[in-house]
Amino acid sequence: MKFARRLDLIKPSATLAITARANAMKASGVDVLNFGAGEPDFDTPQSAKKAAITAIEQGFTKYTAVGGTDELKDAIAAKLKRDNNLTYKRSQIAVSCGAKHSLYNLAQALFEDGDEVLIPSPYWVSYPDIVLLTGAKPVIITTKEEEGFKLSPRSLQAAITSRTRALIINSPSNPSGITYTKEELSAIAAVLVDHDILIISDDIYEKIIYDGLGFHNILNADDRLKEKTILVNGVSKAYSMTGWRIGYLAASEEIVAATVKLQSQSTSNPSSIAQKAAVGALLGDQSVVTAMTAEFQKRRDYIVAGLNSIPGISCMRPQGAFYVFPQVSSLYGAKADGVEILNSTQFAAYLLQEALVALVPGVEFGHDENLRLSYATSMGVIEEGIKRIDRAVKKLDTSVI
Ligand code: PMP
Ligand code: GLU
Repeated sequence: MKFARRLDLIKPSATLAITARANAMKASGVDVLNFGAGEPDFDTPQSAKKAAITAIEQGFTKYTAVGGTDELKDAIAAKLKRDNNLTYKRSQIAVSCGAKHSLYNLAQALFEDGDEVLIPSPYWVSYPDIVLLTGAKPVIITTKEEEGFKLSPRSLQAAITSRTRALIINSPSNPSGITYTKEELSAIAAVLVDHDILIISDDIYEKIIYDGLGFHNILNADDRLKEKTILVNGVSKAYSMTGWRIGYLAASEEIVAATVKLQSQSTSNPSSIAQKAAVGALLGDQSVVTAMTAEFQKRRDYIVAGLNSIPGISCMRPQGAFYVFPQVSSLYGAKADGVEILNSTQFAAYLLQEALVALVPGVEFGHDENLRLSYATSMGVIEEGIKRIDRAVKKLDTSVI
């Protein structure tokens, strides 16, 4: 079969592929522990479920406006005011089938051949591929673990060319969990303010922040960037609603209209029922979010300590999201049954085979020295997972390194 050439530019989402593999192994009776999935393991809040049931019962089951209902846009505007102290009108908000869909729409509407899009690494697996599908070039700005995996104003400045169209910024970050302070964002904003560069702020993990650290996006740091900034968010992570598929963006009217035009020729509106559920979640009891984050913080503390207790593994303590991104490269060169492990893909494969632990190789996020584990799983699974990884690492022949 001949497929369009653009498909050769991308690969299937590694995070979704590994999650599917782990689920299939589990379904066939294998006792695999899944640290691959990037989705909260909590239930969707009652406020969302009830709103959806009411929507079905009342027959709210037809097409809606392409870019979302006025009711949901108003709920999003109220949320942006309440949580982020930012003011947006209905016409500056577009609802989609998930934050990934909003990012896709944005890329299709804004980028083309010859454009460059700046992506700090480690990055979420889908950013480069979403950019590649437009013909534009993802320009990766590698950040170092010693610098806290954070983009510095200096490296940002150095990456900007006359072709730079946009920067994607994701705080708290998937996969590293690093979270920018307002001061750090101000310093980045100071570089951007003089350039004609759009800023895509992926705020999907904004609610999952630890140690009392507040969430700030770049607009909270510098409102001079308002016209150039696009906020992307959704209900997947904050309200454990990954399957409902509701995301949104907030931007200038012009950008919103462009993405809605595109959406009108692709998915049309996101599910009417899921939109009602999103209103329920955004305007309902917010204490469920705080409770979920408190539980994630306990798990973070346990998993970071557990991983750091394993010889050869070193794990930074993230301030947000539900991922850890430990460095394992000091074990590269070790042998398992006579076969050398040389990179994160081989290391992840070894852990899946030897320890029945599924996780994502760091190379998928641009860092081959690391692995990504999602701790959106029970404390019991985390405890058992650490034991299994420890046993598997101790079984390696490290005398040959
Ligand atoms: N951005 C980041 C950084 C993510 O990790 C995810 C998780 N899938 C998304 C966007 C997309 O989320 P969703 O499409 O479920 O709203
Ligand atoms: N964002 C999650 C992850 O990184 C969900 C899967 C995906 O869409 O990539 O695992």
